[in-house]
Amino acid sequence: MSDLDELYQEVILDHTKNPRNYGKLEATIHQAEGNNPLCGDRVAISLKIDNGLINEIYFEGKGCAISTASASMMTEFLKGKKLEDFHLTFERFHNLVTGKVNSSDQFVEIGKLIAFRGVADFPVRVKCATLAWHTLKAAIEKQEQPVTTE
Ligand code: ZN
Repeated sequence: MSDLDELYQEVILDHTKNPRNYGKLEATIHQAEGNNPLCGDRVAISLKIDNGLINEIYFEGKGCAISTASASMMTEFLKGKKLEDFHLTFERFHNLVTGKVNSSDQFVEIGKLIAFRGVADFPVRVKCATLAWHTLKAAIEKQEQPVTTE
């Protein structure tokens, strides 16, 4: 394992042990639940959007290390960002964990989320890594049905 991979693992472990933005917003129209039956991951996302900005964002859930770290790092990365940044980042993140390369990806800044690139070597983990993102999309779109990866 390279030093870089170890560093990435440390970032992910840190977020698994100390999840950021853990909790729930009571008074918001933007919330959704998601689950990944394949692994048993569950996540609930709630957020507040003001003038196209993600002003507050929280998650709650139970799941494997990858799903928890992904939700935690997603909320940390997107808090204070524009909705359009969410859509760009989600696409870039999805390409990253599925091992796809898009020529436009290089222009999308994803910061520490690059730590998830190792997921591309474990296709069964892709759903763990993307569950929070699909659930956030549902929350933004005020979708009532729970999200499921199956
Ligand atoms: Zn999982």
